[in-house]
Amino acid sequence: MAEMRQAKVIARLGAEGEAATLALELDGHPELVLKGGKYIIVHTGLENAEGKIIKRAYSLFAVKPVARQFFLAAVPVSNGAASHYLASLQTGDTLRFSGPWGRFHWPDGAQETRVIALAFGSGITGILGYLGTVPVDVAVELYWYEDPNGGLLNETMVQECTASGNLTIHVRSLLEDPLEDFQGINLTSRFVAAGEGQRIDRSFAFLREQGVTDEQLQSEIFYRDQDLSDAKADR
Ligand SMILES: Cc1cc2nc3c(=O)[nH]c(=O)nc-3n(C[C@H](O)[C@H](O)[C@H](O)COP(=O)(O)OP(=O)(O)OC[C@H]3O[C@@H](n4cnc5c(N)ncnc54)[C@H](O)[C@@H]3O)c2cc1C
Repeated sequence: MAEMRQAKVIARLGAEGEAATLALELDGHPELVLKGGKYIIVHTGLENAEGKIIKRAYSLFAVKPVARQFFLAAVPVSNGAASHYLASLQTGDTLRFSGPWGRFHWPDGAQETRVIALAFGSGITGILGYLGTVPVDVAVELYWYEDPNGGLLNETMVQECTASGNLTIHVRSLLEDPLEDFQGINLTSRFVAAGEGQRIDRSFAFLREQGVTDEQLQSEIFYRDQDLSDAKADR
């Protein structure tokens, strides 16, 4: 079984709407070195109908390795347990988790000079974690498809989390079709996407059709939109 770790909530940050945005500090675990592009599995302590503890993944959207601090943000999901649990945490509370896990980071030896990042809904956290690992001389173009029901993070936080000296942000609605942004897009870029899975699949299928290779594509799917039927996805 994965080692259980804990961290203390040191601040609730200026949340966007109802979103939970938390600054945390590791409580113990001196061996642990925090890195960007990772997620943790939060153990809520709450039980589901089968009596199992509810656990969910959350991306570290920023880390401060020396201070042993990390940052989480969760959008409240209707009838969701973990997102509301995170929103209920107060300064001084303890969060239990396993990890950090994951490989959503700039690969060793990658040669691209531009990364095109697609953040679908809450995927902005995963994208920020990823962008924290991108070399400073790589240009970053961020397409940020915000959920109209509730945003996560604000533009200032997004800029602060990105080291690139060449960052362009395009803010869109999650209801817009991402393929409309792909006309004339630079196909020699690295493409990274995080968040809602149907939109990631649709975007990457289009890019593959244009000749983009799997080596240029990286993604982290958080959830799949149950309301997005195949008919809508193929619109
Ligand atoms: C690697 C990874 C990293 C993740 N990082 C984050 C993160 O940084 N921030 C974050 O908010 N979430 C993140 N998620 C999603 C998170 O793990 C939970 O699924 C989410 O918070 C809902 O949990 P819940 O218990 O509240 O609701 P659940 O009971 O798990 O979900 C209820 C319903 O809501 C849907 N749903 C789940 N997430 C969303 C969403 N964001 N928007 C709309 N519908 C949704 C589910 O498909 C389900 O149908 C991540 C998921 C993965 C796999």
